[in-house]
Amino acid sequence: MGDFIGYRCSLCGKEFLPQGVTYTCPQDGGNLDVVLDISGIKQHTQPKNIFSSQEASLWRYLPLLPVTDPGGLGTPLRAAGWTPVFQPQVLAQKLGLQSLWVKDESRNPTASFKDRASALLVGRARNIGAQVVVTASTGNAGAALAGMAAAVGQQAVIFAPHTAPPAKIAQLLVFGAQVLLVDGTYDDAFDLTIQAAEAFGWYCRNTGYNPFTAEGKKTGAFEIWEQLGMAQKEGDNPLCVFVSVGDGNIISGLHKGFKDLQKLGWLETMPRLFGVQSELSSAIANAYEAKTEKITPVASTTLA
Ligand SMILES: *Cc1c(COP(=O)(O)O)cnc(C)c1O
Ligand SMILES: [Zn+2]
Repeated sequence: MGDFIGYRCSLCGKEFLPQGVTYTCPQDGGNLDVVLDISGIKQHTQPKNIFSSQEASLWRYLPLLPVTDPGGLGTPLRAAGWTPVFQPQVLAQKLGLQSLWVKDESRNPTASFKDRASALLVGRARNIGAQVVVTASTGNAGAALAGMAAAVGQQAVIFAPHTAPPAKIAQLLVFGAQVLLVDGTYDDAFDLTIQAAEAFGWYCRNTGYNPFTAEGKKTGAFEIWEQLGMAQKEGDNPLCVFVSVGDGNIISGLHKGFKDLQKLGWLETMPRLFGVQSELSSAIANAYEAKTEKITPVASTTLA
């Protein structure tokens, strides 16, 4: 476990002790970043310890994570992360790129990047003694939480808008989650989970709400760094990382991961992160192009 010393608000910069808050900044509702004791980590861990780890999952980075070992040996909880990186030569040539890597996150146990966040959440729930974990989801986040929780016998409750794809709902049920279909939007489901968590003492995983989600997703950055050999040698050109963006939790998590590595002195140059959205679900891209920080929701009609 990395030394977890508190939280910092991404809006006002105010810091909180680990026991002081759970989800967002009490002053302004801003997202919280988990703060780790970087010099403490440096004293007990070096990159070579990580590179020689036998753990073929995101748990090889446990010294940099704010939870204790969650157990679950032999279960899918120990198979989240450490996904393969491919170098598709034909595609690289076609695009005129010298180097191109594709990280295949569909290799995660429930088939998306969201297993990284959910794995961390399950660990955090154990650390704070929460028996039930809850999330709002249209599919992948719920599946990830249901799958990771099932691995260690935690109960998962998923609030999903009734429009969620039936195949995703089936996946939730297969993992034994309790599924509540909400007669409303994802945002309605989101608000209900927060109320339910408060009323029943459940631990809420909601994306863009629980600071530990980004801590799980940052392991994607650690893997890129390790798999591309960025600790040993950095290329002449900074690495560009293209990230699909919904509400931006993955890209924030990757940013946090590269920043952690830089603070540790294990990475010299920050990669350039590019957010990518479908034209049919482009709330953040729209705001970026309009040069405003006010994000106006859009009703997306993409297949995803
Ligand atoms: C959730 C998800 C995204 C978007 O992630 P955000 O953290 O919301 O930006 C992109 N691709 C897949 C497959 C997802 O499940
Ligand atoms: Zn704040």
